[in-house]
Amino acid sequence: MPTFKVAIVGAGPAGYFTAQAFQKAQRDDLSFAIDMIERLPTPWGLVRSGVAPDHPKIKTVSKVFEKIAKEPNFRLFANVDLGKDVSLKDLRDQYDVVVLATGASRGRKLGIAGEELKNSLSAAEFVPWYNAHPDFVDVEVDLSSTTAVVIGAGNVAMDVARILAIDPTELDPTDVAEHALVKLKQSNIRTVIICGRRGPEHAAFTAPELRDLPKLENTDVYIDLKQIEEAIKHIEDMDVVEKDLRSNIEAMKVIAEHEKKGVARKLEIKFLSTPTEIKGNGKVEEIVFQKNKVEGGKVIATSETFSIKTGIVITAIGYDSVEYPGITIESGRVSNIAGHVEHNVYAVGWAKRGPTGVIGTNKSDSTDVVDLIIENLKEPKTSEGITTLLKSGHEVIDQTAWEKINASEVISGEIAGKPRVKEVDWKQLISLGRS
Ligand code: NAP
Repeated sequence: MPTFKVAIVGAGPAGYFTAQAFQKAQRDDLSFAIDMIERLPTPWGLVRSGVAPDHPKIKTVSKVFEKIAKEPNFRLFANVDLGKDVSLKDLRDQYDVVVLATGASRGRKLGIAGEELKNSLSAAEFVPWYNAHPDFVDVEVDLSSTTAVVIGAGNVAMDVARILAIDPTELDPTDVAEHALVKLKQSNIRTVIICGRRGPEHAAFTAPELRDLPKLENTDVYIDLKQIEEAIKHIEDMDVVEKDLRSNIEAMKVIAEHEKKGVARKLEIKFLSTPTEIKGNGKVEEIVFQKNKVEGGKVIATSETFSIKTGIVITAIGYDSVEYPGITIESGRVSNIAGHVEHNVYAVGWAKRGPTGVIGTNKSDSTDVVDLIIENLKEPKTSEGITTLLKSGHEVIDQTAWEKINASEVISGEIAGKPRVKEVDWKQLISLGRS
């Protein structure tokens, strides 16, 4: 029976669902030996370092990942950096198939004056900071002002705004980074304003996330009812209205009409506001917006402007894939056609399609790419795989080592009344895996 060697680079949701699709595609006459390669000493990608700590249900997908990892044809090689510890060329030569599941980790920029000021941050820094990503522990986050502004009308903007706006004690029973929890408990921020450049009918939020907002116990959430009523009128003029759009608008109307609790913590969603400049003397002090309006289905700029005094701006306007030797990035993602990059190299997840979709989207997407890979398979190679590529003494975190790290974090969590206490130090993570 031919066994094809598969290298999956990136141990996030897209990587695991690709491994699962290969496992499911095995037949009497076809099998796969899967090596998953990951730069960090820990797997699970955005499930560990992206999903908001107050959304623990979303993280339960990690149980599926662990089941995939338990299959006999799966091996984890974490703490292995593509481009540094192994080259793409070497992987291509050693494996029958290389699948890039490397995501999109670079935050997109607004490209406006003042964006480089201190405390103008990208969600690509702020989210991994509060999620204990070892590379982002030292991000300087100053929460001393009373107002925070978040740019973008998507789910990442909403996560960021919620983390800043809720009472930090609500994060006590979560796996939020310890360093972030300390900072959030000292935070002066009481008003968080999410600013979207288009109307409510164009927002990228999803309805389940919007429906959760009025349930916040210690935060009042505001949306201007007039903006929602306008959006409803615009929707009535549309020929076809998608179900998701109706659900979104209904959820936003509930927020706008919801009786407020009169608490000090406020989260506001403002639409039709394009940021044009961030002002400040060395550090963020104010952000200027141009007001927009919707006419004939199009968003157009007006001559009106307004500004918000704020000490922190966080931009959550999407992500781009990061380039590395041998890979071309086009429009922020790995250049590919239906997942095929070139030769025996493929891409899945955000690396393939850009930063869209929820975790589950990767399941069908990865299955489609694996179907294409199987169609293109020829004769299996006789090669050694990754072990001959790594320098002797290179410390790999394999599945057993990861399980030790995982167990240690979960035990620390049990003591603290949390799902886990994440270790943030790279060396310490490796030493936990060795123990
Ligand atoms: P997103 O959903 O694409 O939203 C990006 C937002 O940024 C949009 O509102 C977009 O507005 C705005 N934007 C883009 N360029 C801008 C600019 N130059 N100036 C002002 N605004 C700009 O991206 P995301 O929030 O990063 O989320 C990525 C994916 O992860 C999404 O599919 C999301 O649903 C998913 N996710 C899901 C969850 C969850 O399920 N709980 C949580 C987090 C993320 P325009 O529409 O006008 O371009």
